[in-house]
Amino acid sequence: MDKLKMILAVFLMTAIFNGFGAEDIQAKSSDLVVVLDAGHGGYDFGASGSGLYEKILNLKIAQYCKSELEKYKGVKVYMTRSKDTYVGLDERVSIASGVKADVFVSIHINSAVTASATGAEVYYPNLNYRPSVGAKGRKLAGEIQKKLVALGLYNRGIKIRTSSGGTVYADNSAADYYAVIRGSKKAGFPGVIVEHAFISNPADVRSYLSSNVSLKALGVADAKGIAACYGLKKTGDTAETLTKTKLTKLTGQSSTSVSLGWSKVKGADGYEIYRSASKNGTFTKIATVKKAATVSYKDKSLAGGRTFYYKVRPYKMVSDKKIVAGFCAAQKVKLLKKPSIAVKNQSSTRTKVSWKAVPGALQYEVYRSTSEDGKYQKIASVQDVTSFKDTNRRANKSYYYKVRAVSKGVKGNNYSSYSVAQ
Ligand SMILES: [Zn+2]
Repeated sequence: MDKLKMILAVFLMTAIFNGFGAEDIQAKSSDLVVVLDAGHGGYDFGASGSGLYEKILNLKIAQYCKSELEKYKGVKVYMTRSKDTYVGLDERVSIASGVKADVFVSIHINSAVTASATGAEVYYPNLNYRPSVGAKGRKLAGEIQKKLVALGLYNRGIKIRTSSGGTVYADNSAADYYAVIRGSKKAGFPGVIVEHAFISNPADVRSYLSSNVSLKALGVADAKGIAACYGLKKTGDTAETLTKTKLTKLTGQSSTSVSLGWSKVKGADGYEIYRSASKNGTFTKIATVKKAATVSYKDKSLAGGRTFYYKVRPYKMVSDKKIVAGFCAAQKVKLLKKPSIAVKNQSSTRTKVSWKAVPGALQYEVYRSTSEDGKYQKIASVQDVTSFKDTNRRANKSYYYKVRAVSKGVKGNNYSSYSVAQ
């Protein structure tokens, strides 16, 4: 009987060890496990104000956060509650342990007696007992807070709160005050509490809590903070998904400036502009346009009458890293030299304006004004000649003339600077 018992015991123990072994293999999945904890719920309403209840807002923010986080690769998201139900604090941490959480993010709305209290703050674990858990939590708190502050929320900072009532960890060090932060640390993962805004502050409510759009912004900010902390990448966050652009316009604006335009690239955060003095020469970055919506640029103060080559490439930022697409085909622009003109009155009603041919010019525009610094009007556009006779003038009146050269650019005309008025 004893022998049989022993065999049975060995058999059972082997089975248990094998069982653990299998779970260990499962736990080795490289996915980051994030547990989102919508605070309060059920009969526990949390804070309230302006007709809003914290438990409802928390759940919405958590759901928006989950949807955003799930756009990233290598992450699994769980919720401690997905309905308006009561879940105890210890149970929340147990749920997280049960799914092998790497991190626990508790979502709350703040409240204060004074209506003026405002802004966002994030609580993270102290450095007692398991300092590496505290350090990880601190980093996460910082990243989430950064994203919330970027929405315009007042920065109350990231904080720790240690129990003053004698609650201690296994090593007798003072424990964290908040149960979910303490419980998470005991379970081996960092827990943070995000206090998004104040339900007791009418301005916070108006700007951040009173519409689904603003609640979504909070949830998305949390997700971006988590993603930044753990270096998560969105599906499609690679250079291959960023297509090249095309130059849609490249023209001389004057003898010394160039106007560029290019097609908008989906997903780009901005564009880099490169220039070279020769087609196969070295292209140098001359500007970075940091707005996704801006698809044009003016390059000024160039050497007059010279030829330049331009190319543009889009970029996007992924977790603070710049990803660039390939360059578009380089295009050339030849700047036209500024003409110099001579003006001769041939009779009281006829004036001849002449100039030296500008290399590359296809046309010349002649402008006239009755005062030197006044408004000039185009009176003629001429081709294949280097002079113009103005017969449409009155006697005893002085006129001033200017000429500029014109050629064809990429989708538009190249213009030289205006000649000095004569
Ligand atoms: Zn709360």
